[in-house]
Amino acid sequence: MNKTAVVIGAGVGGIATAIFLAKNGYNVSVYEKNSSPGGRCGQIVRDGHRFDLGATMLIMPVIYREVFEALGIPLFEDDQIIPLEDLYKIYFDNNEILTFSSDKEKMKTQHEKIESGSYIKSQKYVHDGYEIFQTGMNELIARNFEHLFQFANFKNIGMLIKLKTYISNYRYAKKFFRDPHLRMAYTFQNIYVGQSPFDSPALFSMVPAAELTEGSFFPRGGMYSIVEKLMDAASTLGVRFYFNKPVNKIQTNGNNAESIILEDMSEIKAGIIVANADLPYVYRNLLPDKRKSARLDRMKYSCSAICYHWGLDKVYPQLGQHNVFLSDDFRKGLDTIFKDKSVNDQPSFYVHAPARTDPSAAPKDHDTLSFVVGAGHVDKNKKQDWDDLKRKTRIALIERLKKLGMEDVEAHIKFEICHTPEDWENELNISRGSVFGSLAHNLMQMGYFRPHNQHGKYKNLYFVGGSTHPGNGIPNILISAKLTSERILNKSLSKK
Ligand SMILES: Cc1cc2nc3c(=O)[nH]c(=O)nc-3n(C[C@H](O)[C@H](O)[C@H](O)COP(=O)(O)OP(=O)(O)OC[C@H]3O[C@@H](n4cnc5c(N)ncnc54)[C@H](O)[C@@H]3O)c2cc1C
Repeated sequence: MNKTAVVIGAGVGGIATAIFLAKNGYNVSVYEKNSSPGGRCGQIVRDGHRFDLGATMLIMPVIYREVFEALGIPLFEDDQIIPLEDLYKIYFDNNEILTFSSDKEKMKTQHEKIESGSYIKSQKYVHDGYEIFQTGMNELIARNFEHLFQFANFKNIGMLIKLKTYISNYRYAKKFFRDPHLRMAYTFQNIYVGQSPFDSPALFSMVPAAELTEGSFFPRGGMYSIVEKLMDAASTLGVRFYFNKPVNKIQTNGNNAESIILEDMSEIKAGIIVANADLPYVYRNLLPDKRKSARLDRMKYSCSAICYHWGLDKVYPQLGQHNVFLSDDFRKGLDTIFKDKSVNDQPSFYVHAPARTDPSAAPKDHDTLSFVVGAGHVDKNKKQDWDDLKRKTRIALIERLKKLGMEDVEAHIKFEICHTPEDWENELNISRGSVFGSLAHNLMQMGYFRPHNQHGKYKNLYFVGGSTHPGNGIPNILISAKLTSERILNKSLSKK
């Protein structure tokens, strides 16, 4: 039993952990409830159109490089990961467009047109944000915490000040930019981790700073090709995958997690159990102790998203690969998501057009578009009609696209696939459909305070993924896989 491990869930975190364990002599089996791997980094293919289900941007490449090296998988070597000169186009309601780019002259011209003197300020914002990123990585993100004192001590008070945890991200951006569009452009990235920049610490200024410093990349074949690379490596190492096999229970005995029980009641025993499924879901649905689960229920949860995937029979060249539409209703839009748990009438949203760099994502002269609209998470105490919100939000998106010269877009949609917060909850077992966490990334739910990657009582039960340490987003998930594996194997997996 000692060298056997089962992993619940074939998300990026589950597969990467399976590889680390298999490389270190474990006999690993992965049980996944759905028919294919990837979870929130999954893929939909229909009529020649290829969509990334969730993740679409490869940012923070240094982390990918480090973790993939430790996994023994070549990633950037085969030229299949394309650097993007333009990170994303940001569209404002007055039809102004700001393209975040690695071309400094282009950035300068655009910034100065919006606000005189703002380019130099943006450089300072990015420089300082990148320092926060590096400090955050070393002190808060890429390490396992053993004791509270490693987190809450005198030395760390200085660290928390350095990490700008005392001021909201939006207020911090206000110190740099007078123009509201620039303030929005440098803070909307908070939504990547399911937060409002009005309520989250300026620590998260590290996201645009990392994007602008390290660049943004797109893998040929889409983000799902990252999952395929992981799957290939896992299979080569002998990891066995079982799909359409939902785990119904973790069988415990004293202080031990003994086995998993599948839906068909079969029992699989293992020395180590790793849960990649959403952590609050695991405590609530798979484990016996309901007290811890009730505590997790009282924690803060990230927002959710309504996503639309469209196969179109026309190409709209005005869209770039990554497009961010920021509504002048920015604040109201965020409050509607986080306070009302709903979607604003004129929402900010994101559009992915993968065929711009990878033509294989759509049939010739056709297009593949995915939309992500921030939405409140499922809240049983609120009246939420997701079908109605899905319909209204679709109308709002089409109206906004019309202003960009896409008047006939609706007539060219061949098919649509949509995921609401309820769908995320039902299809992937993500608590409240809070796809960017699920647990929120406020300071009191990060670092030592985020649910740990090892169960407090069942010491052979571990967690990996967005709802444990360090948090959500593929770079964090890769770190999570490494940290959880290091804890299991009791050794460092760094290549350096
Ligand atoms: C719309 C959207 C856009 C995003 N954009 C980006 C982006 O551009 N860049 C980026 O880096 N990140 C992005 N992310 C975040 C990223 O996709 C996630 O952080 C990451 O994929 C989560 O991986 P994970 O390993 O934690 O778990 P998951 O992907 O949630 O995988 C968990 C797996 O467990 C399975 N499971 C659940 N319950 C059971 C059970 N009982 N039995 C068996 N299996 C079970 C699920 O089916 C799932 O396959 C985005 C996410 C979303 C939703």
